[in-house]
Amino acid sequence: MKKLNRKTFLKAAAISTVAVAGGILPGCSTEVNKSAAIISNKKYEWKMVTTWPPHFPILGEYVDKFAKWVESMSQGRLKIHVYGGNELVPPLETFDAVSSGVAEMGHGAAYYWAGKAPAAQFFGSVPFGMNAVQVNAWFNYGGGLKLWRELYSRFGLIPFPCGNTGGQMGGWFNKKINSIKDIKGLKMRIPGLGGKVFTRAGGSAILAPVGELYTDLDRGVIDALEWIGPYHDYLMGFNKIAKYYYYPGWHEPGSPIELIVNKKAFDGLPNDLKDIIRVAAGQVTILMLSEFEAKNTEYYYKILNEGKVKYLPFPNDVLSTFKKLNDEVLNEITSKDAMSNKVYASYKKFHKNISGWFNIAERNYS
Ligand code: CA
Repeated sequence: MKKLNRKTFLKAAAISTVAVAGGILPGCSTEVNKSAAIISNKKYEWKMVTTWPPHFPILGEYVDKFAKWVESMSQGRLKIHVYGGNELVPPLETFDAVSSGVAEMGHGAAYYWAGKAPAAQFFGSVPFGMNAVQVNAWFNYGGGLKLWRELYSRFGLIPFPCGNTGGQMGGWFNKKINSIKDIKGLKMRIPGLGGKVFTRAGGSAILAPVGELYTDLDRGVIDALEWIGPYHDYLMGFNKIAKYYYYPGWHEPGSPIELIVNKKAFDGLPNDLKDIIRVAAGQVTILMLSEFEAKNTEYYYKILNEGKVKYLPFPNDVLSTFKKLNDEVLNEITSKDAMSNKVYASYKKFHKNISGWFNIAERNYS
């Protein structure tokens, strides 16, 4: 693309404002098919596996929509059969299934693959890291997606940002957290990096299947849990069995959701079908975040107005201790793995810079 200065900007603006606004999605093919006649009529039938239960609210629903959009935009040339978790493979085998070609596509979250590639954690949500808007800026215009592709290319996969949950909540507790001492001995369902931090703070991070969370908290098998935010948490019924709903979701400030595509399968597609996949994934990223924010707003008030649950902020000393322990956890990961070090250096630098900008533009406004 030609470099934009004042002169070329004005010239381009005179021709078309759309072109200047960036009508071409990052990463999209810039070569437009010269003639519609060269588009082949070859039909593709693909399988798509997911880490979510079938048709799971918002997350699974968008996989269904993605498949529908791709089929419609391609006029039936690319048909995607969606399989929810356990319908074709177990949820946490999504990555391997797409890597080995059992399915051509998968939908999930990168931090699930920490055991295979530690650096994957930086493409999921990082505690005290970037929010949804910031992380998308890093992916598309800060080098994040390039690093993500570099990491996944070892597994024969191409990742695409494909959704985001937005900022999450800190979790459900039945005991007040007044200081970091109250974390000691507490059993909480909290996965990933957040769980490592929680354990370092003296608690124990428990991993329990989603279907058992309600009973575990109700029966006291666990003392606390985090899930997503007001909408999903209300659907799970946690408001009926916990007294306090803590904020902020320090451990998941905006969790990116990913689409993974088997590289060999993707490379075999004609350019227009590749672009249809890219554009549909981009559309999911925007709409999923919008729906999360709208539904969480609605259910935040619903829980508040029902009056049974108290919203409480984590005390400052708890958050600052979590932050310090998180730095230790991240340092340990990056010191042991060269790719994690490379990815986190880019992430950290972008986060620092964009935080400066957000301080001026967003924080002062809100
Ligand atoms: Ca969560």
